[in-house]
Amino acid sequence: FIVVFVICVSHLKSAIGKPRSSWPSLLPPNLQTLDLANRLRDDPAAINIASSDQGNIVKEIPAAVLYPSSIDDIASLIKFAHFNSAPFHIAARGQGHSVRGQAMARNGVVVDMTSFRNQKIGFHGIKVSAGNHPSIGTDDTTRYVDVGGEQLWIDVLNATLEHGLAPVSWTDYLYLTVGGTLSNAGISGQTFRHGPQISNVYEMDVITGKGDVVTCSPENNKELFYAVLGGLGQFGIVARARIILDSAPKRVKWVRMLYDDFSAFSGDQEHLISLNGREHKNAVDYLEGLLLMNHGPLDGWRSSFFPLADHSRITSLITKHGIIYSLEMAKYYYDDPTIDDSVDEELKVLFETLSFIPGYAFEKDVSFVDFLSRAASREPTSTEVHPWLNLFVPKSRISEFNSGVLKNIVLKRNITTGLVLFYPMNKSKWDDRMSAVTPDEDVFYTVGFLHISGVDEWEAIDVQNQDILQYCYNAGIDIKEYLPSYKREKEWENHFGMKWETFQERKARFDPEMIMSPGQRIFNNN
Ligand code: FAD
Repeated sequence: FIVVFVICVSHLKSAIGKPRSSWPSLLPPNLQTLDLANRLRDDPAAINIASSDQGNIVKEIPAAVLYPSSIDDIASLIKFAHFNSAPFHIAARGQGHSVRGQAMARNGVVVDMTSFRNQKIGFHGIKVSAGNHPSIGTDDTTRYVDVGGEQLWIDVLNATLEHGLAPVSWTDYLYLTVGGTLSNAGISGQTFRHGPQISNVYEMDVITGKGDVVTCSPENNKELFYAVLGGLGQFGIVARARIILDSAPKRVKWVRMLYDDFSAFSGDQEHLISLNGREHKNAVDYLEGLLLMNHGPLDGWRSSFFPLADHSRITSLITKHGIIYSLEMAKYYYDDPTIDDSVDEELKVLFETLSFIPGYAFEKDVSFVDFLSRAASREPTSTEVHPWLNLFVPKSRISEFNSGVLKNIVLKRNITTGLVLFYPMNKSKWDDRMSAVTPDEDVFYTVGFLHISGVDEWEAIDVQNQDILQYCYNAGIDIKEYLPSYKREKEWENHFGMKWETFQERKARFDPEMIMSPGQRIFNNN
């Protein structure tokens, strides 16, 4: 009886919580009765972080920021908002690496997911299941990692490598959260072969927009599973994701080749991604591409690649042609005498099939970790603005995109700064039941204008972004935006196309009060 009494009193205490000295005026006073009230902050430091992001373009001030100590904190907050007579908005904030305010919640509550990492408590942290079959390329469903949605991909990499394993699909930059990239898609040079990160998830725990904690997978609660993957944070918060693992290679042959001819460049890229099965001995493990232009850096924010001694001849080539196309590919190898690694011969055979400018192929041999972490962690300065534009362009119109957009807009205006990524992917590796949207063709390109500009220049770049979109619209090129940002419902309807009705139905089912991720401006855009 005494034990039961003590438990009841301690529950009562935590339910009531300690009184706060002040309370955010925009939040309902009776929210103070919940224990989590003490983990809500509205001091300038907390508000400042939650009202900014990597883009440095949008600013939305929340009423408060929740620094949760458990899943229950988040579930209670959402449940409270859901049942409150005036529901308020809630947004998870991973790293805030969105560029248009997508992780913000004006007058609502931002849930700072990093607090789990900082307090080293986490929902689930990172737990590896090493499986039964150590061999490479075995489809062993017992090899996976359970990861809290707040975790960074760099930490997932380090933890899984301790077991000789690693996820198969990545982003270029690893200082992003698992929940944040799964809300979009998570793409990089492995996507053509393994699909985006959302195609490599076995199951998730999601706190829905009603405050329910639900485990979902393709077998159980599948509607929620498919809704959340690529769902732009609209249906709930990813508390845990179970990610597919494979044996981790030790080393990587990393190659860049230069092209002055667009059709040779895109033809080689398309050829390389067509060899995507394990049966193709020559298949590459990673394929990307980037544009080198006069005002763009040779390496951008990624680690230096081209040998210093070659910089001047590469620069001359760029000056001569305006745009040089750089195909980037990588082959993994295991550096293990028990494994037949014929990586050098395989690369040699591949080289013979490709049409780059003779003498302009550059090769590096690096560790797997160095390859994946080639984009070092960097905090933008307060004067930097990132008016990014990321597009998926159907293969059938890519040549027109090159002449109409790259040559006629981007090259002529000469204001593009930062990296421009350009590489194709196979649609067959995406799952159309998920919320993520792609063009309706077997092969489509991702074109990422990852601008870094100053506060005085970004608007001219944004005008260029609008002109690129307008050009595609006028020419009838059915592009889809990746990491989309729209202001009007009609634009979202166009973006989702055939999926719009399903997206709306799922919203009504999992977040009927339209609480979650208002910064995307899909359902609350007025
Ligand atoms: P946030 O920006 O914090 O959140 C993004 C959205 O997801 C918001 O709507 C938010 O509410 C929601 N959200 C956050 N956490 C959760 C959660 N646990 N559950 C549900 N919803 C959640 N993307 C690629 O695909 N490939 C790349 O190579 C790539 N490189 C990048 C490099 C840099 C330098 C930067 C800044 C971004 C890059 N991105 C890339 C984009 C990146 O995927 C997005 O910014 C993404 O949103 C992840 O960032 P985040 O973890 O900070 O999420």
